[in-house]
Amino acid sequence: MPDFFSTEAIMLRRTAYGDYDLILTFFSEERGKVAVMAKSARKHTRRFSPVLFEPLSVLHIVCHTGRGRLPVLQEATLTQPQSKTRTDIQKMAYAGYWSELLNGWLEENAPRERLYTLFREVLSATDRLPPGLLSLFFQMKLMALSGLVPDLSCCVQCRTAPDAISDALFFPDPARGGVRCARCAGPDQRPCLSRGTLRQLQWMTCQDLQRAGRIRLTPRSLEEGLAFAEAFVPYHLGKTPQSLRVLHQIRRRP
Ligand SMILES: [Zn+2]
Repeated sequence: MPDFFSTEAIMLRRTAYGDYDLILTFFSEERGKVAVMAKSARKHTRRFSPVLFEPLSVLHIVCHTGRGRLPVLQEATLTQPQSKTRTDIQKMAYAGYWSELLNGWLEENAPRERLYTLFREVLSATDRLPPGLLSLFFQMKLMALSGLVPDLSCCVQCRTAPDAISDALFFPDPARGGVRCARCAGPDQRPCLSRGTLRQLQWMTCQDLQRAGRIRLTPRSLEEGLAFAEAFVPYHLGKTPQSLRVLHQIRRRP
């Protein structure tokens, strides 16, 4: 008996397969990460419009799960194009990083409803909120929703609270799941976080996007926060995404 499933889904990755087909990896609302075959999607007489399969498109998809290795895409309808984001190279670099993170982070066929909602909200907000702030929020929430929220309440080594330290600089320690004070971390550690940035990261992790989007971060706090998140999240992923290197190059441009 043929079997079908339908779901809303955000495209994370597309790979050419054979002469005419595409393998598309989606973060789907109903099934979590799912890879599907789009037959003849690259043929001159395409079954599907090419605009459907641009990165980060939010689609409604219908797939047939037959005897093949992958479900076969039957229908795809665009529900949220990312046309504004695609014209901004820095926003695309951030979004590419989030996609690569999720592609490595998610297990196939394991629904993650709250994470899906988070990603969809963050993508929707790229035309009104700064991408750096969104990236910080996304990464802190990604860790929180995965049970990996960093302990920012005290130094993970000597357990001293930030308020009890006079110079109050802290250093990420992803292996121990938190931060170390300057005395425990030793000299020449990078990157560092001020006490104020620590507090803002703690606050942000507990907020929804509507409230977190109103926070006013100084350029220094944003830089510290991003350096912190971009040390922690790749550590949990087990590798540094290629797209993070691209993002760093783009951010360094004047
Ligand atoms: Zn310490």
